[in-house]
Amino acid sequence: MSQQTSDRPDLRALSLKALEAFVRELGERPFRSKQLFRWMHQNNARAFGEMTDLPKGLRERLEQRARLTTLEVDLAQRSSDGTVKYRFRTEDGAFIESVYMPEEDRQTLCVSSQVGCAMGCAFCRTATMGFVRHLTPGEIVEQVYRVNAELVAAGLPGPRPLTNLVFMGMGEPLHNFDNLKQALELLQHESGPNFSHRHLTVSTSGLVPGIERLGAETEVKLAVSLNATTDEQRRELMPVAKRHPLAELLAACRRFPARQGRAITFEYVMLRGVNDSMDDARRLADLVQGIRAKVNLIAYNESAELPFRSVDEGHVQQFRACLVGRGLTVVTRKNRGRDILAACGQLAGAKRAG
Ligand code: SF4
Repeated sequence: MSQQTSDRPDLRALSLKALEAFVRELGERPFRSKQLFRWMHQNNARAFGEMTDLPKGLRERLEQRARLTTLEVDLAQRSSDGTVKYRFRTEDGAFIESVYMPEEDRQTLCVSSQVGCAMGCAFCRTATMGFVRHLTPGEIVEQVYRVNAELVAAGLPGPRPLTNLVFMGMGEPLHNFDNLKQALELLQHESGPNFSHRHLTVSTSGLVPGIERLGAETEVKLAVSLNATTDEQRRELMPVAKRHPLAELLAACRRFPARQGRAITFEYVMLRGVNDSMDDARRLADLVQGIRAKVNLIAYNESAELPFRSVDEGHVQQFRACLVGRGLTVVTRKNRGRDILAACGQLAGAKRAG
């Protein structure tokens, strides 16, 4: 990115209030800021030139004084189950991925928050990239807008076919808290895409200070990637557990505001011979006792680079039955997009910046 480009503010990252101040500085009438905001966040615009109800002179000045973060769809891979994995190219040449998962009653996008990830979870392909950088608020929301535009072009009713967003793509969203929060605010804005906080879920590997802030500063739902039932096991699988052991993590979950009786989702990736015993199931039930919890059991998606193995369906059902027997709500996530490496833990932006 050139110096000249980076000096200009990215209007896609600005709140409506900040945009109003920017428009005022340009000497324009206040209603222009709302028009601009709608083009960026409701109509999925990629460039100022598309904003046809803004005067040509204003569009030209915007080109000179500001910029609009845009992602290029580099690749869209369609799975036999309807899942689509999008690989986006950022303006500085990095690659990130988002996964679209259509269902009868909802259209969900799994959104990335960073290029790579610093958390180093042993079973995760993204971890093998290491941490490259945080995504900006503009880059986070742009994943949603580009996919909306693709779906509208494919015939879905627009301008916002997506109904649900889960922040569990590449990266640890709470490690990029400020940009994530700004993106969440833009996504919930009524002059923007107007997502309900009930349809936004942020998933974390267990960054306790981030969980506290998420509960205090937003209204979105929380998912915790748990994956182990003892501290020793969790430290091996997820280095974040060295900083935040299970007792501290679960105490933060107990304090998380249960708005309208909402449950916290605990994701549990089942790894054969590692965390899939019936003792694990019993310990898992004990750990989440007293929390309004939903457990999401995920059979591991094997990849050639990593040593872990998956469990068979019968075993998942046995594990599930043990949890249900202890009074827990359990969902077994369908393994979406396995054939295109779009399933949980399989995102790694196969092509790197170059
Ligand atoms: S599982 Fe999530 S937090 Fe852990 S390394 Fe992968 S992307 Fe990062």
